[in-house]
Amino acid sequence: MQTLDIIVPVFNEQEVMPLFQKRITEIMDSCDVQWRVIFVDDGSSDDSLVMMQQAHEEDGRFGYLTLSRNFGKEYALTAGLDHATADAVVVIDVDLQDPPELIPEMISACREGYDVVYATRKQRHGETWAKKATANGFYRIINAMSKISIPKDTGDYRLMNKKAYTAVNTLRERNRFMKGLFAWVGYKQKQIMFEREPRAAGTTKWNYSKLWRFALDGITSFSYLPLRFATWIGMAVATFAFIYGAVIIGKTLIFGNDVPGYPSLMTVVLFLGGIQLTALGIIGEYLGRMFNESKQRPLYLVSEFKPPKQ
Ligand code: UDP
Ligand code: MG
Repeated sequence: MQTLDIIVPVFNEQEVMPLFQKRITEIMDSCDVQWRVIFVDDGSSDDSLVMMQQAHEEDGRFGYLTLSRNFGKEYALTAGLDHATADAVVVIDVDLQDPPELIPEMISACREGYDVVYATRKQRHGETWAKKATANGFYRIINAMSKISIPKDTGDYRLMNKKAYTAVNTLRERNRFMKGLFAWVGYKQKQIMFEREPRAAGTTKWNYSKLWRFALDGITSFSYLPLRFATWIGMAVATFAFIYGAVIIGKTLIFGNDVPGYPSLMTVVLFLGGIQLTALGIIGEYLGRMFNESKQRPLYLVSEFKPPKQ
């Protein structure tokens, strides 16, 4: 492994851009590798792009790619990976929550023969209790539901050699749950642990509604289990209804019928209505995603590509 492309998605990060540039340069210059940075401007509305242009002027090893609007981190990463050409890539956030100090370790693991080296956080500093708990729950659910195993507490921060990242690039689904795609390709993977820092500057772009959509994308693109739930619950309820029906018929034959049963009727109607709507909703989640896929739109649109000069 001689060359390394560092892919950095950026969305309104003017506060941290200079810090990132400085720190990554320091660290990478101490590594025995020919490195380049490709910033992906995901439709920022602040001065992030100006800073990328400056970085490109100051140091030819910094290049950038601008998308036509904000597509979201997953697409920004995809765009960056599509434009990588080096022997290996590192995917890293610009906010310095993924410490660039790990890159030398990743490089040596790659040289030892690993195809993918991913960084798992030991602890999450500067994040709320609620965010930690939801993140934990999410990993547990998705791993229980799908066949591929997605390592817990692992973000997108990782090194992939050419074999691994070209494999990821062949996966063109619109529903891009990158952690899942990275895990799906397999290959020889190595885990390294680190302490996740709070953001160096700026604010997180995530909120709970975005996280909820992200979680649904993750689950629906890697598991059919929710659809099967609907079948199981349906079968269980049908079996119960059949037995209950037999009991009612038996009772009526033996004791006659004095028109009881309004409460039980209401219960059954409401219960079944609830289950049916839930099942429809689940089908809708998958159908909506199929609709998205069937449109065959490009994953992102590039408005400008300034590759690194070297
Ligand atoms: N990001 C992006 N597009 C978006 C949102 C975020 O490219 O629509 C980038 C952002 O600039 C950062 C990385 O994705 O480099 C991670 O974002 P953030 O720090 O907001 O997420 P968190 O670390 O809180 O999960
Ligand atoms: Mg962050």
